[in-house]
Amino acid sequence: MKTIVILGSTGSIGTNTLDIVDRFPTEFRVAGLTAGSNDALLETQIRRFKPRIVALSDPSAATRLRQRCLDLSVEILAGQEGLVQVASATEADLVVSAIVGGAGLVPTLAAIRSKKHIALANKEPMVMAGKLMQEEARRHGIRIFPVDSEHSAIFQSLEGHRITDVRRVILTASGGALWTLTKDELQDVSAERALQHPNWKMGAKITIDSATLMNKGLEVVEARWLFDIPESRIDVMIHRESIVHSLVEYEDRSMIAQLGLPDMRTPISYAMRYPERLPLDLPSLDLTEIGTLTFCKPDHDRFPCLDLGYESLKIGGTMPAAMNAANEVAVEAFLQGGIRFTDISDIIRSTMLAHSAREVENIEAALDADRWAREKAESLVHALPR
Ligand code: NDP
Ligand code: MG
Repeated sequence: MKTIVILGSTGSIGTNTLDIVDRFPTEFRVAGLTAGSNDALLETQIRRFKPRIVALSDPSAATRLRQRCLDLSVEILAGQEGLVQVASATEADLVVSAIVGGAGLVPTLAAIRSKKHIALANKEPMVMAGKLMQEEARRHGIRIFPVDSEHSAIFQSLEGHRITDVRRVILTASGGALWTLTKDELQDVSAERALQHPNWKMGAKITIDSATLMNKGLEVVEARWLFDIPESRIDVMIHRESIVHSLVEYEDRSMIAQLGLPDMRTPISYAMRYPERLPLDLPSLDLTEIGTLTFCKPDHDRFPCLDLGYESLKIGGTMPAAMNAANEVAVEAFLQGGIRFTDISDIIRSTMLAHSAREVENIEAALDADRWAREKAESLVHALPR
């Protein structure tokens, strides 16, 4: 039996992870859970899965949770320090990292430093400090298993092969909710419209990232560090159906791909139980029913964020962290109705242009760049006409 901690248990990945625990109660035991401010859902999860320790990043939500759980013996912590303590819970073998955004960096790193294997959904920390996270993982003798569907597909397509035989990896992208819109139509698109993802049901931030293609830009950086492969050998293609989750091309021009219906429980369970495959009772992919799968090149003009991802890697150092932070600020402003859809890429680009990248020699360097870029992006948001 594996003992797990879930960082971000109340989110889309978190609840899918608990669905797997529910289906395989003899395989997994939950030692710890964390959330941001959703004390009501966390209470339900505590009663169902009986973790020893939990944390909420929002201290007032933690106070509410203590009131709700007076009849239980669970330890309830608050703030980043609380998240770090849960991430380091002594009894856990595996930490599912599923917080959204850079807020997951410090707790995920704490889990690595406490020698926990990681099932990584939270891609932003890998973007901010991927090299450092991999070095820490090596130093502490743990593995980081990808949960992101594209990276899980690459991981699966690499199994039994030599990384030295890889010619390139190809990430597929659905194109998101706005793929068919013209440049003019993109200008005034509402958040509600941008949140209507054609294939995946995910949290709001990643759904907007999918619509801008920033998600793919972040995933290029994530792939760079997860598989130790330079950006020149990472390609992206649009695949609207989200059936082929990504591919690896080998030196002999053979391509190996992983296919499946878009359901995150498949990659989550693979990362949780690697190398075993759990018998998930989900619908099978019927390719005869689908009939046709389509592929095309990304549109760099309408969706400039993908190129920003590559650009951040070419510059290197703290640039990906600055890009990520600017994106988080811009997406939040768009969701709040403060900026237009097309302002998102402008704000990220302007922040990157103003950023002087330096080496990420320690976690503070990534966090400093993150703080700087948030401030810069906030000022750009406020400077826009309302
Ligand atoms: P959600 O928004 O659905 O969930 C986010 C989780 O993080 C919630 O538990 C939330 O708590 C918690 N949280 C939010 N802000 C903070 C904070 N500041 N400090 C601590 N906890 C916080 O996100 P998703 O599950 O969609 O995504 C999670 C990560 O996984 C992202 O990095 C995303 O890119 C990645 N990912 C997601 C996929 C998906 O299918 N959803 C697919 C591939 C990758 P609360 O509920 O209290 O707000
Ligand atoms: Mg993905």
